[in-house]
Amino acid sequence: MSRIRFNALQETLNRNPLKVVQNEKRSSLFGKNVFNKFAMQQYLTRAAYESVMNAIELGTKIDRKIADQVAVSMKDWAISKGATHYTHWFQPLTGATAEKHDAFFESINGSLAMEKFDGEQLVQQEPDASSFPNGGIRNTFEARGYTAWDPTSPAFIYETTLCIPTIFVAYTGEALDNKTPLLRALQAIDTHATAVCKYFDKNARKVSATLGWEQEYFLIDDALALSRPDILLTGRTLLGHLPAKGQQLDDHYFGTIPARAMAFMQDLEQECMLLGIPVKTRHNEVAPNQFEVAPIFEEANLAVDHNSLLMDVMEKVSRRHKFKVLFHEKPFSGINGSGKHNNWSLSTSDGINLLSPGKTPMKNLQFLTFFINTIKAVYENEELLRASIASASNDCRLGANEAPSSIISVFIGDQLSEVLDELENVTKGKLSPQEKTDLKLNIIGKIPEILLDNTDRNRTSAFAFTGNKFEFRAVGSKSNCATPMTVLNTIVAKQLKEFKIEVDKLIDVKNLKKDEAVFNVLREYIKESKKIRFNGDGYGEAWEKEAKKRGLSNNKTTPEALQIQVSKEVIDLYKEMEVMSKVEIEARYEIALQEYTKRLQIEGRVLCDIAKNHVVPTAVIYQNTLLENTKNLKEIFGGEYKNIAKEQIELIMTISNHITGINALVIKMEEQRSKANKYTGLKSADMYCKNVKPFFEEIRFHCDKLETMVDDNLWPLTKYRELLFTK
Ligand code: ADP
Ligand code: MG
Repeated sequence: MSRIRFNALQETLNRNPLKVVQNEKRSSLFGKNVFNKFAMQQYLTRAAYESVMNAIELGTKIDRKIADQVAVSMKDWAISKGATHYTHWFQPLTGATAEKHDAFFESINGSLAMEKFDGEQLVQQEPDASSFPNGGIRNTFEARGYTAWDPTSPAFIYETTLCIPTIFVAYTGEALDNKTPLLRALQAIDTHATAVCKYFDKNARKVSATLGWEQEYFLIDDALALSRPDILLTGRTLLGHLPAKGQQLDDHYFGTIPARAMAFMQDLEQECMLLGIPVKTRHNEVAPNQFEVAPIFEEANLAVDHNSLLMDVMEKVSRRHKFKVLFHEKPFSGINGSGKHNNWSLSTSDGINLLSPGKTPMKNLQFLTFFINTIKAVYENEELLRASIASASNDCRLGANEAPSSIISVFIGDQLSEVLDELENVTKGKLSPQEKTDLKLNIIGKIPEILLDNTDRNRTSAFAFTGNKFEFRAVGSKSNCATPMTVLNTIVAKQLKEFKIEVDKLIDVKNLKKDEAVFNVLREYIKESKKIRFNGDGYGEAWEKEAKKRGLSNNKTTPEALQIQVSKEVIDLYKEMEVMSKVEIEARYEIALQEYTKRLQIEGRVLCDIAKNHVVPTAVIYQNTLLENTKNLKEIFGGEYKNIAKEQIELIMTISNHITGINALVIKMEEQRSKANKYTGLKSADMYCKNVKPFFEEIRFHCDKLETMVDDNLWPLTKYRELLFTK
């Protein structure tokens, strides 16, 4: 009998929900461990406070003297809350977060000691970051990397460490992290969206992108997860037969949250409150043991930081509750996967949501402007948007059998489609007074009342308009939102820039009135970007065919999807928008390919190991039992045994076939791996994708068959039903 599986099961039976003390109201916990406006007002001088606020709102530099003041206050605040260490907290290109803790403590002359932290330490650090991926940037330039304070995301205390959000760049200025390009993209969208806003509001000053992510995840008992080498090393199951009951009854979605998971959520939410992560929503997801957490949306840079932080905190809190949290996009084959919907919009500094229809025709024209420009941007850059969410793990979800497709399309609902259809017929050039009135009253005027209720009933679309925001649904649950947010904001910024040029031209050259010019350009955009709009079922094969006819890309694998990132158009786009240089783009491309290859390499190794060292030996043991039994039957019944032991004999042969199958496939896969390992970059990634990965399914097939045949008492790997249905 395999002990680890049964010991693990025994352990789960003895678990009880952890008691979570909830004495304080959420609102009074909120932001307690964040050096936010409120804390700054208390601890900073007026001059320092204003300087930091200007840096946040206007992007101005903070001078050294002020930085020293801020550092000292930040330290006093942190120490008053029990912090002993500080760290620059950043997001290297591993997709995770990185931190290196230093104590505030410093000795003076060897005998005295004090707590110290000054502006220099706040503003810039040089972590020994030689083993973070850099895609050749630091080798080429022989430069080191440093981290630099990002005042727009407030410092916070986690456990006993003051964490200072920073960017991570090479000395030559190239970004080595996810935050730097995001900040540049947010700058671009601010510039170009504000310029367009001025058509509608002369006083428009600043536009920020907003992001509200929805994080899906699985909670699996710690002991059970640890009993599976595949979950431990790859974050997903590489084999396992579907249980008799999966999610077919739809009885988990929005159901009662199991007690242990509830305790985990309460604990997590309290931690989030202290850290200022405004989590609000929690519920069961479609699959058993799958859940979701979502916050109130925030400015995009902060929201991205908060999502990264949340994922760290979830791992830590889950350990207390004897869970392993799985962020992988497809931990279980045949069971719903996990995504991270990115709800995105644009907001002015006055808090006006630019993707929300307003009360007046003018406000609605503004809404339509941003709405249509976004659709056009997605149409022009659908392949780049697809690339922004590509990863080995998200490939298991996108474009796979039961999952959302890898085609990017935009869902806007029937009623907004009708509005766009009508706008398509706007007269070219000057509009008659009659037409203007008609537009204002009957088309644009109708928008507000139809929205909210009638949108968002199509969950199969990769990019859906949901009443007052777009929801990018194809983002993977494991990924850092910075990458898709960088792309989305960059492409919309570029689109708005073009829009402004075209409208201005019509006003200046053709003497059109502002609203006539806007209508004229929008009309063309609606026509040009029609192909990206799709309100039907995005999961079906029919849509794949239709999308192909429309010329939309359908890149099902990461190596295919990533290639657009290094195309001339994309390099030009990033350059024009000042988001990334060619060197930075190429470095990221290399890193992404490497990461992909390594993930598949690890999965291949783990699968071979499990198949050879767990599954085959177990099958042999069981086969021996059958052989023994057959031999005994022969001894007692003589020639009759062939009838009596018919089932056993068949089973012995079937088991043999599967064992032979596994052994042969494992050898073939190993050969393909060695071949692929001789190459690097795209070639290697491509070989892993085309020549190695297909073996995963084939090997799995035999293993899963054996799982259904071999005595349950012998089976060493915790089964799907146990992973999914133990609470
Ligand atoms: P669901 O998509 O599950 O029906 P909601 O539509 O209520 O849920 O909201 C999902 C997410 O969208 C939440 O995180 C919410 O904060 C976010 N959201 C709402 N408005 C905006 C906005 N203007 N910009 C960005 N995110 C938003
Ligand atoms: Mg949603």
